[in-house]
Amino acid sequence: MSLHLGLDLGGTNIKVCVLASADDGAPTVVHTTQGPTCADQGPTAVVERLAELAHQAISDVGDVVSMGVGVPGRFNASDGTIDFFPNLPGPWPGTPVRGLLSEAVGPRVPVSLINDARAFTLAESTLGAAAGTSTAVCIVLGTGIGAGAVIDGRLLYGRHGRAGELGHQVVLPGGPLCGCGNRGCLEAVATSSTFAFMAGRPTAHEAAEAARRGDQRALAALDTVADYLGLAIANAVTVFCPERVVIGGGIAEAGDMLMDRLRSAADRHQTWVDHSWYEVMPAALGPTAGAVGAALWGLQSAASTTTIAA
Ligand SMILES: [Zn+2]
Repeated sequence: MSLHLGLDLGGTNIKVCVLASADDGAPTVVHTTQGPTCADQGPTAVVERLAELAHQAISDVGDVVSMGVGVPGRFNASDGTIDFFPNLPGPWPGTPVRGLLSEAVGPRVPVSLINDARAFTLAESTLGAAAGTSTAVCIVLGTGIGAGAVIDGRLLYGRHGRAGELGHQVVLPGGPLCGCGNRGCLEAVATSSTFAFMAGRPTAHEAAEAARRGDQRALAALDTVADYLGLAIANAVTVFCPERVVIGGGIAEAGDMLMDRLRSAADRHQTWVDHSWYEVMPAALGPTAGAVGAALWGLQSAASTTTIAA
């Protein structure tokens, strides 16, 4: 049995998970905790917080043999530096997160970076709502829209881990400006904040409550957002032919109201894959999914004898 550490760097909190892995059977979660990111203190302080939480988990649970770190943006897989964090303040580009954390935990613990939405995908497809399937697409709806895909049992990674970024597919050509610099991305028209704004409510939670009570403006906002998301799901279904499409994150608390609309919109927007071949369903692992997925990625990367494509 071996222990594997996962850290999920979020805008508000850093979540921590330790997995126990035996030679046979799926890994199990043996420890979770979290601490504040204090993102406004900048990259150096945040990386120190990551290292502190890693040391704390190791002293609580025992020595680990791998460490995975989920990061909210793009990174360079060759040298372990950050390329672009859209939602964390400070001069992150060029910060050698992997190298600094390797120094902190020592040379016997290999450190691997993964995009946080790909970590969510790995967790939900291994231990969550898509466990037992070989091909799944996972979408997490939060401040932005993250996503990933597992194809024939393997996480779709791509150059520098950028594959599967369904949130930055264009669903409205010439539409609103996205944080990535493009126009009309799914993320520019279907986030929780867009839903709240269109519904005339301060938060997505309150917009969902209003829709549940039958408020016409909130229901119209939900229809619009769900149609864009359904279009994106339909495109993913056409490309990947998944058995399950898993939806997580804040807006997912709209529950069946959202899921029903996503299912019908996904079916409406694609005809290539038989509609009975895939299910659209809510995520199962809750807010620790990213840390679980980061630990799984660390485990897989350490076990892999092949070099991850850089
Ligand atoms: Zn974009």
